[in-house]
Amino acid sequence: MVVKKALRINHCVCPICQRGDPYHPKHIQHRQINLLMSTMNARQRRLFATYEAERIGLGGISQLARITGLDRKTIRKGANELLINI
Ligand SMILES: [Zn+2]
Repeated sequence: MVVKKALRINHCVCPICQRGDPYHPKHIQHRQINLLMSTMNARQRRLFATYEAERIGLGGISQLARITGLDRKTIRKGANELLINI
């Protein structure tokens, strides 16, 4: 018998998402990021969060930590693996 592991979906704690408007574009984007990340393994989550943080630029690591619930150190670790400097 195959037991499927339940997906754990993180809920963003940024001020926009905490306001609770489900149609705010940022709220939708953050929910999609967390839904996508719930399908990934730990390494894939780390690298994806790092990629998004790098794409955002200044403040990206803090923002992705808030959205994804990943530790800032974890996201920084991904930067070493992707050979980027953020
Ligand atoms: Zn959010």
